[in-house]
Amino acid sequence: MAKTISIHPAVDQGMKPAAATFAGGTLVCHCPDSKVAVVIESQCAHNHVCGCTKCWKPAGALFSQVAVVPRSKLRVTANEDKLAVVDPNAVIKRHACKNCRVHMYARIENEKHPFFGLDFIHTELSSNEGWAPPEFAAFVSSIIESGANPDDMSAVRAKLKDLGLEPYDCLSPGLMDAIAAHTAKAAGVLSRA
Ligand SMILES: [Zn+2]
Ligand SMILES: [Zn+2]
Repeated sequence: MAKTISIHPAVDQGMKPAAATFAGGTLVCHCPDSKVAVVIESQCAHNHVCGCTKCWKPAGALFSQVAVVPRSKLRVTANEDKLAVVDPNAVIKRHACKNCRVHMYARIENEKHPFFGLDFIHTELSSNEGWAPPEFAAFVSSIIESGANPDDMSAVRAKLKDLGLEPYDCLSPGLMDAIAAHTAKAAGVLSRA
């Protein structure tokens, strides 16, 4: 019998479609009280599950679930003093609750970065329904770096395909193209038109 593979609690049972008029919600951390709250005034984009070792994952999950929103649409509205940057030397500054360790948002401060202007969020921290669901799986092979058994990878990729989450070992082709186009424009190889 095939072993049961759990990708992430928000996708294992299938995903709900985005609500057409959805315009955001509130993310809260896992503390029992004095929760950090982050208000998002936008639908998210590029939601995906990520196998990298840096994204915050709920206990027991093989993947994180991570999306982006414009940084202008994100506001910390409660208990901001509980937030600290996980690794100040990382390009992506992950702001986590010092008490429960949940990552509330991640931000890029380098204006030349292809993703500058977008903040990363975990929509599962919101009880609001209607967020755009994950579209693909990124950095799939990287789950091995977090301790996943290499022998399980075929089953993991099969489960992702079953869920409609195409597995990639980097980002999706659309996002890789966007990064390459940004780099080419910065280098003058591609016109900025
Ligand atoms: Zn917390
Ligand atoms: Zn990641």
